[in-house]
Amino acid sequence: MANLAIQGGPKVRTTLFPKYITIGAEEKEAVGRVIDSGILSNFLGCWHEHFYGGPEVRSFEAEWAKYFGVKHAIAVNSATSGIYCALGATGIGPGDEVIVSPYTMSASSVAPLVYNAIPVFADIEEDYFCLDPNSIEERITPRTKAIVVVDIFGLPYHRDAINVIAKKHNLLVVEDCAQGPGAMYHGKYAGTLADLGIFSLNYHKHIHTGEGGMVVTDNDDLAEKVRLIRNHAEAVVGAKGTSSLINMIGFNYRMTELEAAVGKEQLKKLPNLLERRLTNVTYLTKQLSQIPCLEPAKIRENCKHSFYVHPIKYHREIAGIHRNRFIAAVQAELMPTEKREKEGIKIGCGYVQPLYWQPIYQQLTAYPQGCPWTCEKYKGKPDYHKGLCPVTERMHLEILITHELMTPSMTKPDLDDVVAAFAKVWKYREELA
Ligand SMILES: *Cc1c(COP(=O)(O)O)cnc(C)c1O
Repeated sequence: MANLAIQGGPKVRTTLFPKYITIGAEEKEAVGRVIDSGILSNFLGCWHEHFYGGPEVRSFEAEWAKYFGVKHAIAVNSATSGIYCALGATGIGPGDEVIVSPYTMSASSVAPLVYNAIPVFADIEEDYFCLDPNSIEERITPRTKAIVVVDIFGLPYHRDAINVIAKKHNLLVVEDCAQGPGAMYHGKYAGTLADLGIFSLNYHKHIHTGEGGMVVTDNDDLAEKVRLIRNHAEAVVGAKGTSSLINMIGFNYRMTELEAAVGKEQLKKLPNLLERRLTNVTYLTKQLSQIPCLEPAKIRENCKHSFYVHPIKYHREIAGIHRNRFIAAVQAELMPTEKREKEGIKIGCGYVQPLYWQPIYQQLTAYPQGCPWTCEKYKGKPDYHKGLCPVTERMHLEILITHELMTPSMTKPDLDDVVAAFAKVWKYREELA
């Protein structure tokens, strides 16, 4: 008789895990207030007092700036838009290179292409999965203009090392903090550690407005450029008297009053949601560490992790079977999460495929005629060969496990089922040989 569910044995868990829903009466009331006003957005795409948006957007921005201790917060309709605005504000363009991470949501690395600049992938840290300062240094050329760092899974990037490198080479640093609201580095909030930072407010993130994002910076000039790119820069700069026209091609990346009203309520909930998540991760880390082939991820010294997902390293040499087979067996013991049933069991192998494996990089096709890689302004040589970032590839193919079974709604019995599934697969791993 088989013991493991994947071999036909009984499952550890037969009911769904609890849903993670943060939207409640407070958000309903906030939205009601906007609906009653009849003004769902109050932006104007010209140089006018409404260029900066309506009262909900502006108060949300002010509250966000206060919470994170930063001078400017600029609301946008997604973190992707926010990254595009931030990179546009840095002034990058054709012929420039921007160092990016291969192990992140694709938007943070594809963004340079929007400005016809070249994404250059550096490798990640073995222990923390963020960009590796040594690898960044190796990739710097006279063409490098900026670095997009990512607080991946909710852990702040190695600020001390990377900001020093950036300063030395006169580069701007853009921090993708989509996964790290509330994370901290040496007592300072993630998202505020670089020249510009971006948060996401999409439905999958710690707190959300459906879709949405926030760009933060202490730099007045960069902030104004972000505001222009958010809202039809080309139609505004003349009347406004903006002298620098680089990248002043605007988009409509404006947040509506509805999302801003929701966002203000969500921000109030962030501290509590984060603490519950951390409590769950602490418990899981303690329990899962007792399984010899699992090594829950370390936290960088003097940092607070915000655990968008919980990373775990897998040791095949101890378990004797490949990670993918082990995880398939763990998944078979468990159940999906309520309201997200169609997404499967929220435990996975690796995160995303190394981004330079995507067809856009393998085929060098972003715009017609191979631009911007073939642009005469570009004096470098693109390198996206498989093997380019060996740590990333190893993490992805063999070592990293990520899961989301630590959200605030998970109770101790729920967490115990997760632990029991891993422990059971470890115990009966010979059935998988
Ligand atoms: C979610 C995410 C984004 C994109 O956020 P959107 O608000 O959906 O555009 C960017 N970077 C990272 C690391 C993310 O996790």
